[in-house]
Amino acid sequence: MAELYIHIPFCVRKCLYCDFCSFPADRDMQENYVRALCEELVFSGEERCSASLSSVFIGGGTPSSLPAEHIITVMKCVREHFDVSDDAEITIECNPGTVDADKLHAYAEAGINRISFGLQSADDVELKTLGRIHTYDDFLNSYRLAAEAGFSNINVDLMSGIPGQSLSSWESTLRKTCSLDPVPAHISAYSLIVEEETPFGEMMKDGRLDVPDEDLDREMYHMTSRILSEYGYSRYEISNYALDGHECRHNVGYWTGVPYYGAGLDASSYYGDARYANTDDIISYIKDPVVGHFQIEKLGMQDLMSEFMILGLRMIKGVSAGEFSKRFSRDLFDVYASQIEKHVKEGLLVTEDGNVFLSERGLDLANHVMQSFI
Ligand code: SF4
Repeated sequence: MAELYIHIPFCVRKCLYCDFCSFPADRDMQENYVRALCEELVFSGEERCSASLSSVFIGGGTPSSLPAEHIITVMKCVREHFDVSDDAEITIECNPGTVDADKLHAYAEAGINRISFGLQSADDVELKTLGRIHTYDDFLNSYRLAAEAGFSNINVDLMSGIPGQSLSSWESTLRKTCSLDPVPAHISAYSLIVEEETPFGEMMKDGRLDVPDEDLDREMYHMTSRILSEYGYSRYEISNYALDGHECRHNVGYWTGVPYYGAGLDASSYYGDARYANTDDIISYIKDPVVGHFQIEKLGMQDLMSEFMILGLRMIKGVSAGEFSKRFSRDLFDVYASQIEKHVKEGLLVTEDGNVFLSERGLDLANHVMQSFI
């Protein structure tokens, strides 16, 4: 089994906190990009990936900012050149205000069966602060259209720690999201991370960014799991929650070491125990999308085991010693004896039925625990 990630780097406008590979583009650039992307997909499907795909994720950027026919072309190309499992999860990221009924119907006809909406906040002032292009009403309209087009597997991305955000406004965003009709099957809730090379980073440097302090940020973080569990969502990863059976297969694959093939600008891949990166230069990519795919790291046994631990510990169920031994023919409790013993003593890790996972307190200090497995 393998996964395919397809990057669409275009956005209507850059959000103030964004450091992803994304930018506005005119129709010509979009067309040229899709042509190059299909060239890469053909090569990748024929020469790189022989496994069957359990998931396809069209992310960005804002894939829904492209005309629907481009997405149809991309999906056709994927189906012609990869072996896509009959029950594959196929997701597209959409931003509110960039979809209409026709687009959503076209996605459904192309076999896309999951939508991920970037809402971030149900408060228009906060959306404006983030530099988002949409209002909460735009989201409600897009969400309704998606449901009417037949999508029942919908994720909503939310963000805490927004400048000026209060605990009660975060609570209101969570409760409004959980009360949507139909309810979203999945919610991702991340804390804002201010990256240096962004307008927010500049504002932070000058002391002009009023982000919640660490205590408030922690309160928001704890409130998230409490409120989402009230509405029947189970937390299955540090920042991800789902109704029963609706965990994101693509992300779970990533956290459990399933090989993935990335296509498109700046996309990364992991297969054959090596990591690969695509160029982030759009002109070079359009000129030759296959040449810009280069190996950045061949992973040795230590790296593979370490990555397996770090990603696996993000999952609430943690790492299974059985899986570890199947993959590496080594005993997890031998290889990481000292780290496990130390963190169990500190109350940050729990071992149970051959699994190792973060305790409640360990989830708060996840980065500290993961560091010790590097
Ligand atoms: S919509 Fe997403 S990818 Fe696009 S600029 Fe905003 S945060 Fe970045």
